[in-house]
Amino acid sequence: MPKTFMPSFRNLDELHAHQLKGLQWTIKHVYEGSEFYRRRLKAGGVRPQDIQNLDDIRKLPFTSADDLRDGYPFPLLSVPESQVVRIHASSGTTGKRKILSYTQKDIDDWIHFFARCYEMAGLSTEDKVQIAVGYGVWTAGVGFQLGCEKFGAMALPIGPGNIDMQCQFLVDLQSTVMCCTASMGLLMAEEINRRNLKPQINLKKMIFGSERSSDAMRQRIQELLGLEDMFDIPGMTELYGPGTGLDCEKHEGIHYWGDFYILEILDPETLEPVPAGEVGEMVLTTLCKEASPLIRYRTRDLTRTIAHPCSCGNILPLHDRLLGRSDDMMTFRAVNIYPGQIDEILSTIPNAGCEYQVHLARGDDGKDYMTIRLECCENFNPARKPDLATTVQTEIKKKIMVSCEVDVLDYCSLPRSERKSKRFFDSRP
Ligand SMILES: [Zn+2]
Repeated sequence: MPKTFMPSFRNLDELHAHQLKGLQWTIKHVYEGSEFYRRRLKAGGVRPQDIQNLDDIRKLPFTSADDLRDGYPFPLLSVPESQVVRIHASSGTTGKRKILSYTQKDIDDWIHFFARCYEMAGLSTEDKVQIAVGYGVWTAGVGFQLGCEKFGAMALPIGPGNIDMQCQFLVDLQSTVMCCTASMGLLMAEEINRRNLKPQINLKKMIFGSERSSDAMRQRIQELLGLEDMFDIPGMTELYGPGTGLDCEKHEGIHYWGDFYILEILDPETLEPVPAGEVGEMVLTTLCKEASPLIRYRTRDLTRTIAHPCSCGNILPLHDRLLGRSDDMMTFRAVNIYPGQIDEILSTIPNAGCEYQVHLARGDDGKDYMTIRLECCENFNPARKPDLATTVQTEIKKKIMVSCEVDVLDYCSLPRSERKSKRFFDSRP
């Protein structure tokens, strides 16, 4: 039998029993190992022995990005510093970076479940994986690479950008898988097309980290490259890094590694669980992380759980793609809008291209106005731009109840990025 990185649980009861054990271990571990957590738990009136079942997670206090800043440079540290073998950092948008610590076991766990991602994506040890994400203090490059090596495929660690070298490796080494952001995936697809390299390459799959891919982007990449499949890989530095789940080949949602962390979906205002299937904030609790464990960590990422079991047969639970961040949620004329919603709507409109920008501005009349600048698809008849604009206006009005102006732009007129594309611009005071 081939080596597997999947857990051996036969049903959800077994998974839940494992989660309870992990939760109890974690609370005891941080109570004994971390001054910060011990204070926080005491303030909440919780002792390790109070965790008797999984619902008791709701007794636990929340943590957030603020707690990472306060404990800089070794926030949440729950083991002696001498047991830390590595740190990673994420780019803080304001102020100090978030730094997270890892013991050797944390690294081993991360690499184990990252190998699971490649397994779930259907790779074999024959695959050659071109890794076009950032290296250095970031979790991305090293995570994709060590996971690939552990899985047993061949890693080609190129890093981001450097389009000429990416193309050369695709041709000369016949890479079969490329790992990059979805924006970079689109840029590569367009570049391969422009250079007419398609007949010379052997690319079969793309794995997208760091930002969600919209259906329109996937469709465009698919048209240009004719891949077998594309996958989204979620992840954040606070929770090890990328590789904490994957949408399997059925694409019914993202399987997340419930044997390594518990995911709650809560209303960001009330912090109570949302009804099953509704959008809320992802709140995470790790089950075996030693150096920087997370307890009810508020990610600010919005998604929903998918209740039905995946038709692939794997029992690991599903959440939907990320629909944006609660911080990015914009209130426009008393309606809450998150970026993923706009993505979802535009992706369903024929002839809409896959790049767009949303601009919010305040008019001289004191009212707020939304303008969507949207590329049309390639070879679109310019005479039909007004029709496309009307369709977009109608769909936005129907699905999120707001009016907007729509500028239809030529194909490829918006900037392309090798990293995450900025799509929301709010110039309101
Ligand atoms: Zn599945």
